[in-house]
Amino acid sequence: MNCLECYAEIKVPADAIDGEIVTCNECGSSFELDISETGVLSLKPAESVGEDWGE
Ligand SMILES: [Zn+2]
Repeated sequence: MNCLECYAEIKVPADAIDGEIVTCNECGSSFELDISETGVLSLKPAESVGEDWGE
């Protein structure tokens, strides 16, 4: 599992659940863990918390 921003390795906990937020230790980016029905893990960008998406 690699960071989508800086490609550093992100350690995903063995008990990670679908939708869990993981954070890259290198660049601090947060990603939402997506676990498919077949158990394949992937990351998708998490919507930034605290950022104003209004308007
Ligand atoms: Zn990163």
